[in-house]
Amino acid sequence: MSLIRCIDLRSAAADVDYRAAVPRAEFDIEAATHAVQPILDAVRDRGLEAIREYGERFDGVRVEDVRVPTEAMETALAELDPAIRAGLEESIRRLRATCANELEADAVTELASGATVTHRKVPVQRVGLYVPGGLAPLVSSVLMNVVPAQTAGVGSIALASPPQKEFGGAVHPTILAACALLGVREVYAVGGAQAIAMFAYGAPAGTATEAIAPVDMVTGPGNIYVVTAKRLLKGRVGIDSEAGPTEIAILADQTADPAYVAADLVSQAEHDPLAAAVLVTDSEALADDVEAELDKQVSATKHVERIRTSLSGSQSGIVLVRDLEQGLAVVDAYAAEHLEIHARDASSYAARVRNAGAIFVGPYAPVSLGDYCAGSNHVLPTGGCACHSSGLSVRAFTKSVHVVDYSREALAEVADHVTTLAAAEDLPGHGAAVKVRFDR
Ligand code: NAD
Repeated sequence: MSLIRCIDLRSAAADVDYRAAVPRAEFDIEAATHAVQPILDAVRDRGLEAIREYGERFDGVRVEDVRVPTEAMETALAELDPAIRAGLEESIRRLRATCANELEADAVTELASGATVTHRKVPVQRVGLYVPGGLAPLVSSVLMNVVPAQTAGVGSIALASPPQKEFGGAVHPTILAACALLGVREVYAVGGAQAIAMFAYGAPAGTATEAIAPVDMVTGPGNIYVVTAKRLLKGRVGIDSEAGPTEIAILADQTADPAYVAADLVSQAEHDPLAAAVLVTDSEALADDVEAELDKQVSATKHVERIRTSLSGSQSGIVLVRDLEQGLAVVDAYAAEHLEIHARDASSYAARVRNAGAIFVGPYAPVSLGDYCAGSNHVLPTGGCACHSSGLSVRAFTKSVHVVDYSREALAEVADHVTTLAAAEDLPGHGAAVKVRFDR
């Protein structure tokens, strides 16, 4: 029996809804909300005590002081394997280069003499960054969160990651080392929905931990509990996007190497049993070869059960299409977090994709490269949100404000228009607020 199911869309009608036809993770919002809302309420009402209780329940360890001491971060950095340090430093260097290029200057528009509107960019003041640590300690997510925040000029950065039972309830040492490398000082051993609630509500001082100030915005990836917490608290705090269980879609023709395609599907299925891996191809031969490769590669990899669950789940599949034009429509409708294109003339297909968190072009740009070291960001929208949301970037940590500066003469030029439009809206007070400036 096949590990991954096949969906044949070759004879689909022209008006078929591809969004509904392609595999998608069953994100049971009701069930997740049912689990997460009480956590958020408890953290809001009981602060640190509730945070400790949920850590004990979900991470298997009770942590009295959830704030990580600075010395622990320095020790972790001193003891870090030099090869890991070199990898982190190269990744930081590349990320900093792309982030520096993303900085936007203020846009000043002079509309008339004495009339300017400036679109001023302002960094968010205080942010809470989430770094996953349930199934794997995602040290790379430290960099992906922190570097754009620092480049944007965020003044106050707090970071949270689940307490690790095997390290006595501390945050994973590699994550702590990365924090030290980047100069992040405010780190909490708190995971899941309780971390997002802690950031949103803050927490008064407890017996062992100083008061935690609420943040203006929470960013970072996580599992369904983290994503649901972000969704439920959106508005109370800003969020980046719903960066949930990983998805990879690959658009490929017969020129693709089945070993590369299978390896890339496996690499993302490795993240989570809920991760989605989808191949869209017009080549039946490639589909067969990828299936054979999956059988071979999955049994040789470490997290076999997790990968099998992901690949055989309803969220994954091989989708057969008539040609790559139809394939393009399918992947655009799917709006994957990661989209790889393995096809003749891959760049021209990439240029035509509208909806994807990030696009990886050709055989030498695997998603794993983007996960660690491409210079792009790996915190990306999932669940189809890529049709309206973007991955993490400097812009995510920046807001803008219009600054309106008009002289008396410049206001006089448009005063009649303002009073006329105000009258048309039956809001004469608006017009009067302009007239009063010229009546005296
Ligand atoms: P995580 O840190 O996101 O979640 C672990 C936390 O989940 C625990 O600390 C616990 O508090 C909470 N939890 C576990 N079981 C629970 C339950 N039954 N009820 C309530 N809370 C519970 O780590 P993870 O689980 O390894 O997940 C990481 C996720 O991040 C993966 O799904 C991965 O695919 C995803 N990811 C996404 C992106 C992206 O940009 N979209 C990037 C990297 C990783």
